[in-house]
Amino acid sequence: MGRKDKKGISEKQEACHKLNFLHQASHAVLAINPDNVAMSRYYASTMKEIARKLVYKLDPSIKRKICKYCHVVLVPGVTATVRLRRKREKHIVVKCLCCKKMKRYLCRPGHVLWSERNMSSVENRQNEKNDPEIKKGQKPQKVNTGL
Ligand SMILES: [Zn+2]
Repeated sequence: MGRKDKKGISEKQEACHKLNFLHQASHAVLAINPDNVAMSRYYASTMKEIARKLVYKLDPSIKRKICKYCHVVLVPGVTATVRLRRKREKHIVVKCLCCKKMKRYLCRPGHVLWSERNMSSVENRQNEKNDPEIKKGQKPQKVNTGL
């Protein structure tokens, strides 16, 4: 648990609020004026810098929307082009229109990102250790509640 200020908000929560604000601001600035790339870049790079200093992992869906090289928010049709290619293996090519760098993401059917797997969260790992019915190498089964 981190320290709490007078309002009862911990430092972690405050940092998450900052990151959320910066992410939304970087998108909003581009939505209002597509030519205002510099301001959007500033917000996105600040967000990445705060996350890096606090050793926070940004979600892959957020990371993929920011250019790794120039920190521009990648909006298809405005700051990036998105193409589906079938050369070698089917993949998506996202090209940043500012620095012309490309990122490729494979489209494998049934592929699940590590962060979206059950095993990625700390709670699930601890449950596995404490639950004697779940043995090594056996994946915990999801309970379908019908919701
Ligand atoms: Zn770029």
